[in-house]
Amino acid sequence: MATPERDPDCLFCKIIAGEIPGTRLLETDDVIVIQDINPQAPVHGLAIPKRHIPSAAHLTLADAATLAAVIDAANTVARDKGVADSGYRLVMNIGPDAGQSVAHLHVHILGGRALGWPPG
Ligand code: 5GP
Ligand code: ZN
Repeated sequence: MATPERDPDCLFCKIIAGEIPGTRLLETDDVIVIQDINPQAPVHGLAIPKRHIPSAAHLTLADAATLAAVIDAANTVARDKGVADSGYRLVMNIGPDAGQSVAHLHVHILGGRALGWPPG
């Protein structure tokens, strides 16, 4: 079955539709980047495809352009926020052990401080 364009119960689908507020850092035809409501670093955005994809585990080669658009938007926000040279981390959490709490694919953009490795 094809991935639905929108899940009516999904928080990020509601933010994309404007039904729940979110601070938009960037918007393109296919992607929004919003400010994370609970930032873990001085720069913490979420790059989100407008099409509902539950997680990166659901991506196939057919989604290559969507994924590239998400990464491109994340990189643009990193440049806009001034962390492109100091460095930043792009993170996709998948499933419970990784701490994924919203089942709509999103790439965290984290920067503005030294980030520990390995992550907790
Ligand atoms: P995950 O834990 O799924 O990798 O990331 C979900 C992220 O969404 C978390 O960093 C959390 O702070 C953020 N978040 C949860 N609810 C909201 C919301 O209503 N608005 C915004 N802007 N971010 C949210
Ligand atoms: Zn969704």
